[in-house]
Amino acid sequence: MEEIKQNARRLMEFLDKSPVNFFAVRTVAERLDAEGFTRLDPRDRWNLVPGGKYYMVKNGSAIFGFTVGDADPSAGFRIISSHSDSPCFRVKPHPEMLTEGGVVKLNVEVYGGPILYTWFDRPLSLAGRVIVRSDDPLNPEARLLRFERPLLTIPHLAIHFNRTVNEGNRLSPQKDMLPVIGIIRDKTEKDGMLLRLVAEAVGCSTADILDFDLSLYDTTPACLVGMNDEFITSGRLDDLSMVHASMEALIAAGRGRQTCVMAVFDNEETGSGTKQGAASPILADLLRRITDTFGGNHEDFVRAIERSFMVSADNAHAYHPNYGEKYDPTNHPVPSGGPVIKINARCKYMTDADSAAVFRHICEKAGVPFQYFVNHSDIAGGSTLGNILTSQLPLRGVDMGEAIWAMHSVRETASAIDHTYSIKAFTTFFNL
Ligand code: ZN
Repeated sequence: MEEIKQNARRLMEFLDKSPVNFFAVRTVAERLDAEGFTRLDPRDRWNLVPGGKYYMVKNGSAIFGFTVGDADPSAGFRIISSHSDSPCFRVKPHPEMLTEGGVVKLNVEVYGGPILYTWFDRPLSLAGRVIVRSDDPLNPEARLLRFERPLLTIPHLAIHFNRTVNEGNRLSPQKDMLPVIGIIRDKTEKDGMLLRLVAEAVGCSTADILDFDLSLYDTTPACLVGMNDEFITSGRLDDLSMVHASMEALIAAGRGRQTCVMAVFDNEETGSGTKQGAASPILADLLRRITDTFGGNHEDFVRAIERSFMVSADNAHAYHPNYGEKYDPTNHPVPSGGPVIKINARCKYMTDADSAAVFRHICEKAGVPFQYFVNHSDIAGGSTLGNILTSQLPLRGVDMGEAIWAMHSVRETASAIDHTYSIKAFTTFFNL
């Protein structure tokens, strides 16, 4: 019982420290630093040693941690992949919009597929990275910025102006979803208002700020819910709970023959098509580089891939007590039922009978329950990392995740015990 609470508490701390992708990656990097991992610069020549622990960051928003196994370049890899990003709103350039009475709102655009109306009437703030001028135009300085205090809110229209709001309310991202940031008395204050706020927070002049990636986040911290604290409710459980579980497993795992990898990609929510996303060659290049370091040639690399296995860890839909008709009649995972193996006949998931069998056996060895998710046959469902990665690397692997409610809401709900199950299953996988 204590172990479940402790893992849930650690996950909640991790979520609170990680309001957006850049912070999630920094939180992982800080933990890996504390655990004796060495940070590698992708631009340098690497000198890896068997048994060594390393990590590499891409774009500040994707991170790849690994513990090297034997020096044999064809030994293969155990990989757990997940993603750092979550649906949110991104601030546009020149965002300030002055309205009646000096009220200023910010122009933002939608990132990924959030459930829009969950973002109304909350204490929101901004986090991300600020790009500061340096002497070298090609290498400006990136500084992370998080406003801790609530800075913004998106006020909903009163019901008196839309009596049928509860019968379905179509929302326009451009009209309905712009957050309010404050009231000014002097109209000339409007232009550059956000920039001045940002400059003050990062401690430089507005002229030195070349650009920024800032997103909205909900300042409400994660917490336990339920008469026995059985649920965790927080923003970004998809997919930071899997990032956290794979990190804990990589740290806990002992040294094996194969190299263990935690791969945290960015931009899964927009289709993975960036240099730090799963559709790029970044993971393939990393694995090839590790093989090369130990004197491997192309054949060794192909042999290593043939001996490898990947767990594509991205959260799954828990059976919703109010919407039973949306779920498959015989395969609907429930909260606290253990890791969910995701299956799709159109191969939107990489799972097949072979890889599902492997993961099932891992769960059995770990002493944790497991369950299956298959879409209701009339419902299309989503996609994830696994089948995108197999276009780069013909890996054996399984798609799985923790069962959560309200995926892509500003606040999602998972089961506390499932997180301990995930950590156990992942640690067992790395230790096989
Ligand atoms: Zn996801």
